[in-house]
Amino acid sequence: MQKRRSWAEPYKIKMVEHLRMTTPEDRERAIAEAGYNTFLLRSDDVYIDLLTDSGTNAMSDRQWAGLLLGDEAYAGSRNYFHLEDVVRRRYGYRHLIPTHQGRGAEHLLSQLCISPGDSVPGNMYFTTTKHHQELAGGRFVDVIIDEAHDPTSEHPFKGNVDLVKMQRLIDEVGPERIPYLSLETNVNMAGGQPCSLENIRAACALCHEHSIPVFLDATRAVENAYFIREREPGYETASVADILREICSHADGCTMSAKKDALVNIGGFLAVNDDTLAERARNLCVVYEGLHTYGGLAGRDLEAMAIGIEESVEYDHIRARVGQVHYLGRRLMDAGVPIVRPIGGHGVFVDAARFLPHLPREQFPAQALTAALYAESGVRSMERGAVSVGRDRETGENVYPALELVRLTLPRRVYTQAHLDVTAESIVDLHADPERVVGLEMTYEPAHLRFFQARFRPVVGSVVLRRRRQGAPATEPAAAGSTIP
Ligand SMILES: *Cc1c(COP(=O)(O)O)cnc(C)c1O
Repeated sequence: MQKRRSWAEPYKIKMVEHLRMTTPEDRERAIAEAGYNTFLLRSDDVYIDLLTDSGTNAMSDRQWAGLLLGDEAYAGSRNYFHLEDVVRRRYGYRHLIPTHQGRGAEHLLSQLCISPGDSVPGNMYFTTTKHHQELAGGRFVDVIIDEAHDPTSEHPFKGNVDLVKMQRLIDEVGPERIPYLSLETNVNMAGGQPCSLENIRAACALCHEHSIPVFLDATRAVENAYFIREREPGYETASVADILREICSHADGCTMSAKKDALVNIGGFLAVNDDTLAERARNLCVVYEGLHTYGGLAGRDLEAMAIGIEESVEYDHIRARVGQVHYLGRRLMDAGVPIVRPIGGHGVFVDAARFLPHLPREQFPAQALTAALYAESGVRSMERGAVSVGRDRETGENVYPALELVRLTLPRRVYTQAHLDVTAESIVDLHADPERVVGLEMTYEPAHLRFFQARFRPVVGSVVLRRRRQGAPATEPAAAGSTIP
């Protein structure tokens, strides 16, 4: 008997979007044309798109209705004031500077606060965050706890800041060379792993003792708040909204990609308490984003974001969102597929190094697995390993991080349980015969954030996924059959 489900969706479907079905030959051709990089596939060739949960959310009827209330005045749009009110109430920061998306806010914050030669500590890097810190002349320093780098550790708060590492950095470079601590909630690159409130409180106190501000990357702060409610003693009955407010109350402001928690397709913001910093940010916003009351967005986008933030803190919503992720994760775990534990908040991270032990790290096992999974079943995933990390800035050598992962990220409110079943079945099939997957070599490497546009080719032969051997196991032909991805 299956346990009564606790996370069923608190919504029903009103409109559907058709998907194109493809054959294995279609997919082998498409992934070769894309240089074995799933970022370069056409969305029309994808069946189940788990590339990212960024901007891929399904908006609610209330949000769509909100679009019609867009006030497209150049200055002082009513939607800006609505959003400002919601951000003040839900995140608690006084000043709102909207930006076209998260990296727009990261750009403003980095340019305003970082001087060349500064060290910027963070609980694990995020691609765009680190890149903007480096463009401003900073050096990223990882201060996350060691458990975050161990895919088998069951630590319930793997996003936590290691206070000893933080103190060591303060002693080493001096607090005046640390412009701020970049504190990410529900750490993306660690597998969607939360920080505890106890740790957030302590990390912020340590920084403030040395007059170092703390800025949250609040992109997934609501998912983090949900995990605190589930796991941290004393918060079992607190509302997700109250926990979110408390998380934010310890920091001096945040950058935010609204394309995640906030249930919209585009948007972001910088929110701070300091009046002077806010004034400077509004001024720089005009240069890079647009006037400070629209920040590169249409009035309707601001309205959808305001409504999305309100929906995001509803308990039934966030429980169903994380529940879907855990359903997929448990199906894979039960079948013996190596995944990052505990299962995170926005996706399931497959340990590609353990999944494909026959491939050396120089052949980018995670990249190869994303390409092979697409060829197998039309499921699009993303590499989060050596290709994403890039090269060492000093030596120019490839960096091979501890985590070589494939991320299966769930868009919010988009896919059904049957879609998750198809995904799990095709991964389990690949796992039964991993030597079908061929390693890759890079044939083109762009200068910035190379994972987005890099191109590859198989190290031998002309396909990334060899045909199944005669008599080899397949859980179910339908999962990998001729017409069904
Ligand atoms: C997506 C994301 C960003 C960047 O936001 P964009 O809206 O994609 O520019 C920054 N930090 C984290 C943790 C993210 O997940």
